[in-house]
Amino acid sequence: GLELYGVARRNSRGYDLGDPGVPEALMAAIAGARRADRVAAPIVGGAERAGQAEPVHNPATGAVIGQVIEADAGTVEDAIAVARAAQDDWSLAGGAFRAERLERAADLIEDRDALFLGLAMDEAGKTLADAVAEVREAVDFLRYYAAQARADFTHPITLPGPTGERNELILEGKGLFVCISPWNFPLAIFLGQVSAALAAGNAVLAKPAEQTPLIAHAAVQVLLEAGVPGDVLALLPGRGETVGAALTGHDDIIGVAFTGSTEVARAINRGLAGRDGPIATLIAETGGANAMIVDSTALPEQVARDAVASAFQSAGQRCSALRLLCVQEDVAEGMIEMVAGAMAELSVGDPAILSTDVGPIIDEEARANIAAYVAEARAAGRVIAEAQRTTLPAGGTFVPPVMIRLDHVTDLKREIFGPVLHVAMWKGGELDALIDAINASGYGLTLGVHTRIDSVAAHVAARAQVGNVYVNRNQIGAIVGSQPFGGRGLSGTGPKAGGPHYLHRFAEEKSISTDI
Ligand code: GLU
Repeated sequence: GLELYGVARRNSRGYDLGDPGVPEALMAAIAGARRADRVAAPIVGGAERAGQAEPVHNPATGAVIGQVIEADAGTVEDAIAVARAAQDDWSLAGGAFRAERLERAADLIEDRDALFLGLAMDEAGKTLADAVAEVREAVDFLRYYAAQARADFTHPITLPGPTGERNELILEGKGLFVCISPWNFPLAIFLGQVSAALAAGNAVLAKPAEQTPLIAHAAVQVLLEAGVPGDVLALLPGRGETVGAALTGHDDIIGVAFTGSTEVARAINRGLAGRDGPIATLIAETGGANAMIVDSTALPEQVARDAVASAFQSAGQRCSALRLLCVQEDVAEGMIEMVAGAMAELSVGDPAILSTDVGPIIDEEARANIAAYVAEARAAGRVIAEAQRTTLPAGGTFVPPVMIRLDHVTDLKREIFGPVLHVAMWKGGELDALIDAINASGYGLTLGVHTRIDSVAAHVAARAQVGNVYVNRNQIGAIVGSQPFGGRGLSGTGPKAGGPHYLHRFAEEKSISTDI
């Protein structure tokens, strides 16, 4: 286990998918846990709510894998009223009480990982490797925030004062927190937000992404089974425009944790500002226009491996993903050729087939948007390489990985959330101009740098206005507790998920001074 805040934290269980037989055994366990009759109903006060059920689809095949019931306005109101009545007691119960329940939930998820792996694959189109990483990250978040709750939310901090006075500082829950999570990490980010808000002593109203309600529903069931009181955790499936808007527009909400697009974060921020309620906290983790800087000393094989993993793993549907490869002009030709070669090796298709590297785009709307962008680049003669079009399963939503040439780094204006890698060149001696141009995008999430010169890496790391810098490696897959994740500017508000300061933004501080 790892030492954290003086509290031992166990590592999540991992699998070596390179070991013969391991992937096959996992796939068999997943098949055994698969069921077609799951219904992601709203959960309020520990009880499921009935309603009109709509189908949930597997993006790789179009197959119906379950049903979802959207929370209606009355259900949202009920959930808020129930949470309001219960939140104080949850906060007063203390960090250790809450931590125990989150740790129990982590254990239950590990015990039932076949269920969660299968849902990550079937509902979100994840490959087995991505699904394994997803479940591990979810378990890590639960244990990490639990450890922090024990450390920081159990005992007051004693502060100095004049003789005859005792000064203490305590942390307590803020109140009602709304957690709005994305489909690209439908378990890890869902549970990360929810467990942080709960650990700090808040009651939580959780709205999972409309594309991935089933895995969120299974996660809430586990939290309730682990002893989280039903009154402090409601699951409210539905769309952002309806359920999300009803929640964030409500006067009783004190905070919102949101991961998704920059535009939606802005809309939530405006909505919170326009209410009569308390001045609310917004913790937003949004998009990126993430660059990788490659200089002439970089190792081409390493660049190819790391650029391809960063751009195309999870079909590029990570906010951390590499979008813009910036290669020093003198070595550009060979470097780009090598990246294109590695990209051509990727196999695109249904993650149910173990050899698949790149799974589907989450839904048809997203696929059509990315495809239209690629078509425009193709018409302009900017597509320089494409992954082979293997026969793709009918009914799925796929975009094969593609590389698009740009004349200048500033030509990338927005985030394209898919397997699209832009490439631009820069001239030796103009590194600072390149960093300035990357910073000028306004996004600030991840930045990769590949160089054999330590001082270049240090210079880039110091000047880059981003949340996560990665040197001579890939730039995705931040590890809880080791690589706290989150950006700045158009990429989010901070604090960083899986980092030592995250929980504090979910908490209120109270100072108590007593004459003794
Ligand atoms: N934490 C993830 C990573 O480091 C990305 C999270 C996201 O895409 O929202 O790759």
